[in-house]
Amino acid sequence: MSYKIKKICLMGILALVFFMGGALPLLAAGGKRIIVIDPSHGGEDTGVKIKDRVDEKDITLIIALALQKELAQESNLQIILTRDSDRELSLEERKKNVAKIKPDFFLSIHINSGFGKNASGFELYYPGFKDMTERKTAVNVSTRQAKNKYLNDSVRMSHLIQKNLDALFPRKSRGLRESDLPIIDGLSVPALVVEIGFATNSEDKKKLLSPDTQVEIARALAKSIKSFFR
Ligand SMILES: [Zn+2]
Repeated sequence: MSYKIKKICLMGILALVFFMGGALPLLAAGGKRIIVIDPSHGGEDTGVKIKDRVDEKDITLIIALALQKELAQESNLQIILTRDSDRELSLEERKKNVAKIKPDFFLSIHINSGFGKNASGFELYYPGFKDMTERKTAVNVSTRQAKNKYLNDSVRMSHLIQKNLDALFPRKSRGLRESDLPIIDGLSVPALVVEIGFATNSEDKKKLLSPDTQVEIARALAKSIKSFFR
C-alpha cells in the first residue's frame, strides 16, 4: 500500500469514527440519562389494599424512594420521581410530566392483586406503540423509527428486570406482556409497568411488607437500570 493510499485509508477510518461518534444518542443536559420512576397511586387513590393501613400506594412509594437512593451515586443517571410523598396525582398529570421531561426511561411501579389466592410473582407490561402499524400513513418514517427504538428499549429493560427480579420471586415470573395500560398508552418514550407481587397471595404479601425485601426489590430494579445504561 502506497503512502498516499494509506493516508486516504486512515482519513476514511477517522471520518467513520467521527461519524459514528456523532450518531450516538445525545445525552441529556449535564450528560445524564433521565429516568422517571412512577410510584403508582397516592393520597386518596390508595391502590390495592395490602393489610390494615398499608396500601399499594405506600409500598410503591417505599420501593421508588429506595430505588432513587440506590441510583443516587450513578454519575450518568438523573432520577426523577413522579411523586415523593403521599399525594394524589392523576394519570393525566403523570403523563403530562413524562411528556414534558421526555426521559430516557419511564418505569411505573404497581402491586398486583386478584386471579385467585395462588396467583403470585411479578408481571411486566410494555407499550405496544399500536399507532405504529395502525396509522401508518399518518405517522412519518422518523416517528416510526423512534417508536421502534422505544419498543426495543422497553423489551431490553424488561429482560434485565426479569432476570434480576427472578431471584426474589423464584420461578414465579408471570412474564412479559404487551399492553397499552392507561399510564403508558400514547407515551412516546421507552416505558415499562412492573406489577411486583400479588397483594392477594400470602407469600407475596409477606415479601412486599418486609423492609428487607423492599430494599432487595429496589436493588434488583437499580441493577437492571444500571446495566441498561452502562
Ligand atoms: Zn396499581
